[in-house]
Amino acid sequence: MAKESSTKSAAWQIALEQFDEAANFLEMSDASRKTLRAPKRELTVNFPVRMDDGSVEIFTGYRVQYNLSRGPAKGGIRYHQDVSLEEVRALAMWMTWKSAVVNIPFGGAKGGVICNPKEMSLRELENLTRRYTTEISIIISPEEDIPAPDVGTNPQVMAWIMDTYSMHRGYSVPAIVTGKPLSIGGSLGRVEATARGCMITTLEALRHRGMDPKDVKVVVQGYGNAGSIAAILMHEQGSTIVAANDTGGGIYNPEGFDPNEVLRHKQETGSVAGFPGTDSVTNEELLELECEVLVPAALENAITGKNADRIKAKIITEAANGPTAPEADRVLESKGVLVIPDILANAGGVTVSYFEWVQDIQAFFWSEDQINSRLKEIMINSFRDVLSTSLEKKISMRLAAQVLAIGRVAEANDTRGLYP
Ligand code: NAD
Repeated sequence: MAKESSTKSAAWQIALEQFDEAANFLEMSDASRKTLRAPKRELTVNFPVRMDDGSVEIFTGYRVQYNLSRGPAKGGIRYHQDVSLEEVRALAMWMTWKSAVVNIPFGGAKGGVICNPKEMSLRELENLTRRYTTEISIIISPEEDIPAPDVGTNPQVMAWIMDTYSMHRGYSVPAIVTGKPLSIGGSLGRVEATARGCMITTLEALRHRGMDPKDVKVVVQGYGNAGSIAAILMHEQGSTIVAANDTGGGIYNPEGFDPNEVLRHKQETGSVAGFPGTDSVTNEELLELECEVLVPAALENAITGKNADRIKAKIITEAANGPTAPEADRVLESKGVLVIPDILANAGGVTVSYFEWVQDIQAFFWSEDQINSRLKEIMINSFRDVLSTSLEKKISMRLAAQVLAIGRVAEANDTRGLYP
């Protein structure tokens, strides 16, 4: 059943604090501020799942639709033991700003189920997913709210969601979810999209700072979907990947390693830990290593007031959502660190999810080159918009991204007017 941890409720406090800073900067009206501070719709579901030993367990899940002013709600589903309503609400708020910062016609949502997918069998996960989908099916549809993968979920989970929803309808509804396998209407390039967006924005940041990608050392926290592929794509650009970790431990070699080999090692052993030719590092040590680019790609609150001062990276690419606490932001800003904020850095995922939804609705599919070049154009334009706002208004990249995004959502809200 539901439990709140202080870190997870901290995510919502952080999201609100960031929002208030942007709303103050925008001199937003009281009415808009009140409206945008509140999630539109929050569904909590407690549901039974048959386990492999024949017993029945009750699981708690959530779906939060934060704001629908600019289009259908969009956001991933997280399976993790620390999921809470406040965490899901924070992530749904960030999804709203993320869709707006890259200017795609979506609102923001997020979902989650309190569970430990690593301790569940495939059949138990399928049972959980199909029942959770049924429970939230009263508020999701291709026109209303389109889920996607997040921590602990993957294309297979998306396939079960698509199948369950389609069974209820009696026909296939591929546009109900994105991040699906290709065989059922998924998009080319979606698996790599979040990391590709991180790579593109990192290259833009390096260019802005006059740094050559071939001369930079990269550290990656969290070697999952976003982190491992970001490491591989930066390696292809000639950068040296010097450290990576996951919940099983961390590895470090100042001379660098091949991130493809590390991924193979993780697939075989379950963790990056113990990769030959590297030393082990703790999570705390990893974040403070000598490097030019740090990519937090795990969970919230990795960089806090406690460790921000010891971070040596010049550029931080936030692949994860909410990895930096506001007090850490202030320290990093005073040290001149360029933070590519989460709602911009990891927006490649939602952008290609948008492409997938468009392709499903039209039943007309694009080539990988078309997808990657459209993604590149959106990511570069969005990075440049945020950077020029940051330079013109003399504000941090995070505040600039929030100001642009929240300004767009507020404009849509105001233009539509207050009903009734
Ligand atoms: P994932 O489950 O594939 O990977 C997460 C990784 O982080 C795992 O390797 C896990 O072991 C590791 N991890 C967790 N806690 C850690 C800790 N304390 N220290 C070190 N490693 C730790 O998830 P993902 O999809 O790659 O998502 C990672 C982050 O990126 C999340 O914040 C997610 O919201 C964000 N994100 C993901 C996508 C996407 O398309 N997958 C899109 C946007 C944002």
